[in-house]
Amino acid sequence: MRLLLVEDEERLADALSHILKKHGYETDVSYNGEDGLDNALSGIYDVIILDRMLPGMSGMEIIKEIRKEGIGTPVIFLTAIDGISERVKGLDSGADDYLAKPFSTEELLARIRALLRRKDKDVQTGSDMVVGNIRYKPGLLTVFCENREIKLTFKEAQLFEFLLLNKDNTLSKDRLFDKVWGFNTDSDVTIVEIYIHHLRKKVSCENSGITIETIRGVGYRLKEVK
Ligand code: CA
Repeated sequence: MRLLLVEDEERLADALSHILKKHGYETDVSYNGEDGLDNALSGIYDVIILDRMLPGMSGMEIIKEIRKEGIGTPVIFLTAIDGISERVKGLDSGADDYLAKPFSTEELLARIRALLRRKDKDVQTGSDMVVGNIRYKPGLLTVFCENREIKLTFKEAQLFEFLLLNKDNTLSKDRLFDKVWGFNTDSDVTIVEIYIHHLRKKVSCENSGITIETIRGVGYRLKEVK
C-alpha cells in the first residue's frame, strides 16, 4: 500500500509519515501544493492525505485537477477549518473523507483502512480477474490459462495486475516503474522492459486472448484480442 501525504507543516508531516510507515504503509511526502499535485497525478497511490491550506496550490485545487485527469485515488482532506459548510465543500470537490485538525492518529488510521477496504471492493483486489481467456488470482500470484497454471513473482504479479486494471489504456514506463518499484529503489526504469518481456513469455499460452502491446516511445498497453 502506497500513500501520499501532502502537508506543509513539516513537523506534522514528518511525524505522520513516520507513524504511517510504522503501520506498514509506504509513504511519500510533499511539502507544497505543486509537488503534491505532481505526485498525485502519477496515479500510483492507494490513498492521498491532503492538507487543505497549502502554499502554491490549495488542496481543493489539487483534488479538482486530479479528478479532471481521471485519477480516482481516494482522498482524505485534512484541515484546520471545520464546520458543516466546509465539510460539504470538501466532499463536493471530490474528496472521499474529511478530517478536522487536530485529529487523533488512531482516527486517521481507521479512516485510511476504511477507504482501502472500499477501494479493494471497487477494484475487486483479491478476487479473480478475468480478461480474454485468462483468469488471474491475485492472492495466489497465479494466472490460469486453458488449465495451465502459471506462477508469477511478486513484482510480475504487481505489474500484471496494474496492466489488467488499466486494460486498453497506455501506461508509460515511468508510471509502471513508479507503481511497482517505487521511488526508493536502486533499479532504473529499464527494468520495466525486462519484466514485460518475462510477463509476455509467461502469459502467452495459446488462445490467451490478450496481448501486451508496446507503444513505441511511451510504454505498454494490455488489450484483448479476438
Ligand atoms: Ca497547511
